[in-house]
Amino acid sequence: MKAHDGMYIDGAWRAPVGRDTIDVVNPADEQVIGRVPAGTAADVDAAVRAARAALPAWAATAPAERAARLAALRDVLAARKDEIAETVTAELGSPPQFAQNVHVGVPIAVAGSYAELAATYSYEEKVGNSVVHLEPVGVVGAITPWNYPLHQIVAKAAPALAAGCTIVVKPAEDTPLVAQLFAEAVHQAGLPAGVFNLVTGLGPVAGQALAEHPGVDLVSFTGSTAVGRLIGATAGAAIKKVALELGGKSANVILPSADLARAVNVGVANVMSNSGQTCSAWTRMLVHAERYDEAVGLAAAAAAKYGDRIGPVVSAKQRARVRGYIEKGVAEGARLVTGGPDAPREQGYFVAPTVFADVTPEMTIAQEEIFGPVLSILRYTDEEDALRIANGTVYGLAGAVWAGDEAEAVAFARRMETGQVDINGGRFNPLAPFGGYKQSGVGRELGTHGLSEYLHTKSLQF
Ligand code: NAD
Repeated sequence: MKAHDGMYIDGAWRAPVGRDTIDVVNPADEQVIGRVPAGTAADVDAAVRAARAALPAWAATAPAERAARLAALRDVLAARKDEIAETVTAELGSPPQFAQNVHVGVPIAVAGSYAELAATYSYEEKVGNSVVHLEPVGVVGAITPWNYPLHQIVAKAAPALAAGCTIVVKPAEDTPLVAQLFAEAVHQAGLPAGVFNLVTGLGPVAGQALAEHPGVDLVSFTGSTAVGRLIGATAGAAIKKVALELGGKSANVILPSADLARAVNVGVANVMSNSGQTCSAWTRMLVHAERYDEAVGLAAAAAAKYGDRIGPVVSAKQRARVRGYIEKGVAEGARLVTGGPDAPREQGYFVAPTVFADVTPEMTIAQEEIFGPVLSILRYTDEEDALRIANGTVYGLAGAVWAGDEAEAVAFARRMETGQVDINGGRFNPLAPFGGYKQSGVGRELGTHGLSEYLHTKSLQF
């Protein structure tokens, strides 16, 4: 796999300050496929300086010009989609079709949406005797996870650039190659030097240096709640804007009137896709006591079908973590219906699609984010009980409700403490705001709400 041995700073690939490197491993066969530099605070500093220097000119460009550059970026991503998908498959282990459709398809749609929004958004509003100008926040420090490696970068870079901000991205250490391809695409699309910069490196080194850098005005982080807490504290101490997209433990609530087979099948597919490494996955399925056994049978059959079709999880560390949770589920008394902690293959970081029944709300597997192909099925007695269970975690990122009548599902969804709810299998909408209630985060990504994260207001009174 192609790997740059430098950082993309100020419009060119530059030699890193230090000599340390990070091995990139293919999780399907455990082979090293590339090596990238492990950035230091000095690399981060150079990138932030470049972003700062580029800010005044980029912030002053006409929205139509920013829109044109983003449209060019979308076109480059679309033209290079096969190469990007192959890279995602190689470093994340994603099955090729899923890599094409989701890992590349969604970022192209999101980049396209910001090409349009950059031009059409109203950067000025009249409020009584005031004119309110929406101005770019400044230099953005973006720290991203590996689970949707291109999407997580585009969901920050596209709105930041549309708003007139400049940006430094520190991608996850497990998936830096697709981040380097994105930097190439930015270059090809003709964005001015310094507007977008990339520093690869370890979280506690390069990530922390970026979050702490006084030249960064807004830190946008996607990742675990534990690291988000640290970043929030760092940004808070410096009175910096911060956006946090964190973990989830979302509920898939199947009301008694629902089409049970459809709700269960879509629910299982939702958890198994991307090998369970989706922050918004509905990892808790809530079923009424009367239909519980039927649902468990359907889920076991559906999960077993995924056996060979899901990819590995991203790393040996992640596999150990997921297996640990499966063992804990068994130890705490949940009933293993299919799958389990044993490795399904000798090579690669694979985890068998796993379904637990008789899970109770206080069990660890019902409370903590597992981030692997593991579904927990919980039993409820009535709607109030279902709501208590659904809202009974520290998270609030997403969810689903199924009912025979849409209005019934909507009424339940309105009482859920969560940022997104799919009604009867509603489709992902790249323009709808995405983000969490409670410890799932602060702020929103995507669409106009995502754009407004990168703008602040200046009111002129007349
Ligand atoms: P992680 O928190 O370990 O790492 C995320 C990023 O933070 C990486 O780039 C990492 O290098 C960096 N990082 C780690 N320690 C750091 C530190 N001390 N200072 C600064 N940066 C640091 O998370 P992960 O394991 O890569 O990703 C999985 C997590 O991300 C899950 O919890 C998942 O739910 C969450 N996630 C949330 C969303 C969302 O939109 N809410 C989306 C995807 C993933």
